[in-house]
Amino acid sequence: MSYVCLHCKREVKVLEKNFVRCPYCGYRVLGKKRSSLAKEVPTN
Ligand SMILES: [Zn+2]
Repeated sequence: MSYVCLHCKREVKVLEKNFVRCPYCGYRVLGKKRSSLAKEVPTN
């Protein structure tokens, strides 16, 4: 499943559920790419 970083708007491919973080800027809030509504997915 692909996500989009809500900070830099780059596509982020998530391989592990417990590790969702933008590799470009390190931002931890990503939105699901498929969903029209960018749903925030904060992770620990
Ligand atoms: Zn980012």
